[in-house]
Amino acid sequence: MGLFRLILFILAAWLIWWLIRPFFASTKKRVDEQKNEKIDTMVRCHHCGLNLPKNEAIADDAEHYYCCEAHLNTHKK
Ligand SMILES: [Zn+2]
Repeated sequence: MGLFRLILFILAAWLIWWLIRPFFASTKKRVDEQKNEKIDTMVRCHHCGLNLPKNEAIADDAEHYYCCEAHLNTHKK
């Protein structure tokens, strides 16, 4: 009887894992897509022309990008 319960437990655990697996797979894919976007999207500093990843750049209201706050402030009024 003990062995039967163990098999039933393993079967139940496998079934739960199989049911939640698509959720984990889609989450991983979404993370990969975000990573690719970060690497691919490069923007140019409006002040000095330096190219940098969009996620590290600072954007102003007119959608100009800057490499640092000092350069952003030189164009702010
Ligand atoms: Zn700059």
